[in-house]
Amino acid sequence: MTQPDPLRAGIASRDWLRQSIAVLQQEAARSADTHLLRLAFPGFPGIDFYFKDEASHPSGSLKHRLARSLYLYALCNGRLSQGQAVVDASSGSTAISEAWFARLLGLRFTAVMPAGTAPGKIADVRALGGHCELIEDPAQVAAGAAALADAGACHLDQFGMAERATDWRGNNNIAESILAQMTLEPHPQPAWIVCGAGTGGTSATIGRYLRYRGLDTRLCVAEPRGAAFAVGWRSRSMQARATAGTLIEGIGRQCAEPSFLFDVVDRVLEVDDVQSVAATWLLPELLGGRYGGSSGTNLVACLQLATEMRKRGERGSIVSLLCDRGERYQQTLFDPQWLAAHGIAPEVELQQLRERVMGR
Ligand SMILES: *Cc1c(COP(=O)(O)O)cnc(C)c1O
Repeated sequence: MTQPDPLRAGIASRDWLRQSIAVLQQEAARSADTHLLRLAFPGFPGIDFYFKDEASHPSGSLKHRLARSLYLYALCNGRLSQGQAVVDASSGSTAISEAWFARLLGLRFTAVMPAGTAPGKIADVRALGGHCELIEDPAQVAAGAAALADAGACHLDQFGMAERATDWRGNNNIAESILAQMTLEPHPQPAWIVCGAGTGGTSATIGRYLRYRGLDTRLCVAEPRGAAFAVGWRSRSMQARATAGTLIEGIGRQCAEPSFLFDVVDRVLEVDDVQSVAATWLLPELLGGRYGGSSGTNLVACLQLATEMRKRGERGSIVSLLCDRGERYQQTLFDPQWLAAHGIAPEVELQQLRERVMGR
């Protein structure tokens, strides 16, 4: 009988770790940067708008970046080893991106989700080989993920880890990528960068990077009205709770999340859902493709900031994000019957937005 040799086991696990990190680095090397699409609106002369197309990632949203970072962070912290199951609590694009990377790494992935999650998203996770554990009470979803972690799974923990898993000083994080893509533009230093807050990871990364680079660019979070980032930002309170719900997925959290870094955000603009939906409908007219609701929220905030710049006679650039693909919302935000059932009729706001961008 030979005794198990801990040193040898350690070497074998380092081999697997090295291979897994190489797989993630290869995936990053194969990936192109996401396009920064430029738009100029007759209603805002001298102000250039740019939208970074995060829907063009292979797993369909900006969560592709987060999922890559979360796996790398778990691996490098010694929290994820060969053959270990992986779990996270997510009802949305994070689960899809995490399932995508689990397949790449040959790991078993379980998304713990509320039972009411859109069937299309459950189907997307399953199509990638992921498992969905559906929980009736949405308040119990986090506990469901924790229970699987107690049983030995690696908890990727998007809400807990988002701000720290991302390399804020560079490594082509979203902020570094945007600023590099802006270098040849008329106003390479944006007046504003606008993003939403779900985990808060994107706003944390952009806000930190702007300071690190010493830029004057300001960061605006576009938030569904009454959601927790807006409430918490005013008093810098991590105890904040939303005062209203939202139909916009991916943003508009009920509570302040651990990765909300209020101090790096210069402004929060709250947007009514009907405005976000109208802007989500306007985007295909401007860009030729459908994007999700949080992209619409971003557009509304961009137009608000541009209106203020125009009033002050300022020129400059405003950059924002197209966060995910519109196909995921075919049966919801793009279905007039579904919208009507949720009390939203965006036609009037849509026409007003058209007139604003056209300058009529
Ligand atoms: C997660 C998400 C956001 C917000 O990004 P965070 O970095 O998590 O704050 C915005 N839109 C969509 C569609 C998302 O899935």
